[in-house]
Amino acid sequence: LLGADGTVAASIFAEMSALAMRTGAINLGQGFPDEDGPPEVLEAARQAISDGVNQYPPGRGLPVLREAISRHQQRFYGLSADPETEVLVTAGATEALAATILALIEPGDEVVTLEPFYDAYGGLIALGGGVHRTVRLRSPEFQPDLDELRAAITDKTRLIIVNNPHNPTGTVLPIETLALIVELAHRHDALIVTDEVYEHLTFGVAHVPIATLPGASERTITISSGGKTFNTTGWKIGWLSAPAPLVTAILAVKQFLTYVNGAPFQPAIARGLDLPDSFFTGIAADLEAKRDVLEVGLTTAGFTVSRPQGSYFIVADAAPLGYPDGAEFCRILPALAGVVAVPIAAFCSPANRADYASLVRFAYCKKVDVLERAAGRLAGIS
Ligand code: PMP
Ligand code: GLN
Repeated sequence: LLGADGTVAASIFAEMSALAMRTGAINLGQGFPDEDGPPEVLEAARQAISDGVNQYPPGRGLPVLREAISRHQQRFYGLSADPETEVLVTAGATEALAATILALIEPGDEVVTLEPFYDAYGGLIALGGGVHRTVRLRSPEFQPDLDELRAAITDKTRLIIVNNPHNPTGTVLPIETLALIVELAHRHDALIVTDEVYEHLTFGVAHVPIATLPGASERTITISSGGKTFNTTGWKIGWLSAPAPLVTAILAVKQFLTYVNGAPFQPAIARGLDLPDSFFTGIAADLEAKRDVLEVGLTTAGFTVSRPQGSYFIVADAAPLGYPDGAEFCRILPALAGVVAVPIAAFCSPANRADYASLVRFAYCKKVDVLERAAGRLAGIS
């Protein structure tokens, strides 16, 4: 986890945001929105602070939020999670992932992820002493090959980490793939950890939580976060739901990571989860329009793009523009066009990076005029 010189290596997102700050370039690197979310949610946080919700909440999270999480799961997916025993509030999805992985693997256990993978998975598997195996998502479809899934998941597999919708590719997994993962988890007695932080951000396809598939919920830990749904990435309110004994095991670790977090933000996220359906369809439609703006801009600029079905991100191939090395391209992009992006190789294991070398990720969770300005600048590259 340390760089070659013994210092902590900055995450690719922090590095690219620093590059944007330094150069004044438009930051389409790190995935965070540039607008505030629903006013009711912001007001609820202010109100909670005024009301004195400023001390440690209970270890599992404030009941008002756990109840709202449970209602939300029921309303959108027909899932029933007991707010007393089957829901845990965490410091973002990141802590949910950390506590889950550290609680549930023993050193030497295998953990399967889809590659490219969100950077925290690799770091956390290493912290837990796990062995990281990946199933490749290949350009341009970025769907896993089912035989490769069958080969990767074995009796040595303890956890299968699913990320759906997927960061960085924007892929949404079809139900057949989810069903196979459940079948393989059963066959090999593995647990499924599903990171669904982009659950409300799909375009033209429904989000299907893997926990809704037959036989899945008993061995699935479902993770989400308020950050992406309510434009509150800095609040770090996340959560997980799982069978009670798994929640208890995860809580045992979580209590020594952060113990608790974000007291006044918890009722505010609860308020958000109870917003009407129209809010949730509205944010997806809004983001879809933004995706379209950036997709057209990138295509016009000469990139080959893979159209994402969900998430904040679009993958573009810089090779047609004469840039076969995406990492190098991202380093010079601020000077070239005043834009920051992230190389897909940063989401890959060293052995596989070459296969993704020319691909870069752009975030479109930005105001339309910002995306249009970025598109105009990128058009000047070729
Ligand atoms: N998982 C994925 C796939 C993400 O993209 C992110 C970051 N946005 C996280 C987890 C972390 O979420 P949080 O900020 O709630 O910790
Ligand atoms: N999830 C965000 C992204 O993929 C970044 C979160 C972070 O900076 N760790 O850009």
